[in-house]
Amino acid sequence: MSRQRIVILGAAESGVGAAVLAKLRGYEVFVSDQGKIKDAFKSVLQQYEIPYEEGIHTVETVMAADEIIKSPGISEKVPLIQQIRAAGISIISEIEFASRFTKSTIIAITGTNGKSTTTSLIWHMLKKAGLDASLVGNIGKSFAKQVAEHDSAFYVAEISSFQLDDCYSFKPHIAVLTNLSDNHLDRYHYQFDEYADAKFRITQQQTASDRFIYCADDMETIKAMQRHVFASKKISFSQQQVLTEGAWLHNDQIIFKHNNTSFSMSLFNLGLRGKHNVYNSMAAGIVGSTLDIRKELIRESLSDFKALEHRLEWVADVHGIEFINDSKATTVNAAWYAMESINKPVVWIAGGVDKGNDYSLLLDLVRSKVKAIVCMGIDNRKIHEAFSRSTDLIINTESMEDAVKTAYRLSTNGDCVLLSPACASFDLFENFEDRGRQFKEMVRML
Ligand code: ADP
Repeated sequence: MSRQRIVILGAAESGVGAAVLAKLRGYEVFVSDQGKIKDAFKSVLQQYEIPYEEGIHTVETVMAADEIIKSPGISEKVPLIQQIRAAGISIISEIEFASRFTKSTIIAITGTNGKSTTTSLIWHMLKKAGLDASLVGNIGKSFAKQVAEHDSAFYVAEISSFQLDDCYSFKPHIAVLTNLSDNHLDRYHYQFDEYADAKFRITQQQTASDRFIYCADDMETIKAMQRHVFASKKISFSQQQVLTEGAWLHNDQIIFKHNNTSFSMSLFNLGLRGKHNVYNSMAAGIVGSTLDIRKELIRESLSDFKALEHRLEWVADVHGIEFINDSKATTVNAAWYAMESINKPVVWIAGGVDKGNDYSLLLDLVRSKVKAIVCMGIDNRKIHEAFSRSTDLIINTESMEDAVKTAYRLSTNGDCVLLSPACASFDLFENFEDRGRQFKEMVRML
């Protein structure tokens, strides 16, 4: 019998990782990328003697595959993908492929906001507990590459809805859904339910011995759960209700309860600030208890964890003005939590590429906290329309330098300048990391 032929579309972290795993497991592998492949990835392909093409997808070569692993960045609307679907060739994601080759414990985290933070918190906890755990998926290494090079005992995987779209037999032992709000709707026919359903694919293979951890305060999650029947044990966390299991608040304490053991932790001892991070810490703590990690270790991990770069990251104090980098806030919801966590007058730097934002969610917070808005995007009309009656001052700027200098000029001792754009970054920047780094550079030059 001839070897199974796998074609991989997209040669970045996940595609190249999948190629390495496929090659080491004896498949015939070919990698195809419509764009230019980065040198670092090319050298991995060369090292493993994996043939590839760049700048083109040669249709006949791609269509000769037995199975195709597609990068999550490639949309279903691309004609080649439609052609592959029409021919009935199986398309899977790198996550699906990697999961076929490991029997280890998988903890998978998805949701609209808080994935990276929650994933890193959980990984930090597992490492502190001395477990052989790898950080994979959207953050960290490709899952497939990790399985290929060292099959860890535990995988903590951040998974996007695009990766879940092409998952069929992927079965996490513990699935965490942080929350659900509008995002990426352009990839889901502008149907929120379709986007939510993609997230719930994380549960589709779970059995009664698996766990699904979710936010009981998130109405969109609760609504979507009513449409989905799945077998795993459901455990939730809440800041609004008292629960019988999971995590909830009592005065200023988080109560964690799992099976018959319970323990508490003061909110003041959490390493991360903001209400949203109380949720993320609750989710991580439940995962820890589910894995029987000692309560002292769970507490310690939740308290000594440092914020990730670009997520409510403290940058500097310049003449009594605090500067915070929350460049990763590309949704209105994320910006809401950032603003909510700050208890001083805010000069808010916002704007960029709007993915269909509804700013009304922010009106109350802007009215009560924001003294000025510094817009930083090519098209700032929607921000002006939304907030012109809620704040005295809205100023347009066209570069980070201009935005930081303007925000500094508008603030006084005791204020906070917050970069939390609620928008994507690619009009003026390469990505959110570039935006955050430029912000920090400009602040340091003040
Ligand atoms: P993701 O990986 O899902 O994009 P991150 O942890 O990188 O999530 O955080 C992205 C943004 O969302 C940050 O601006 C952060 O302040 C905000 N955020 C983090 N956790 C939550 C949450 N649980 N709910 C709402 N917003 C959050």
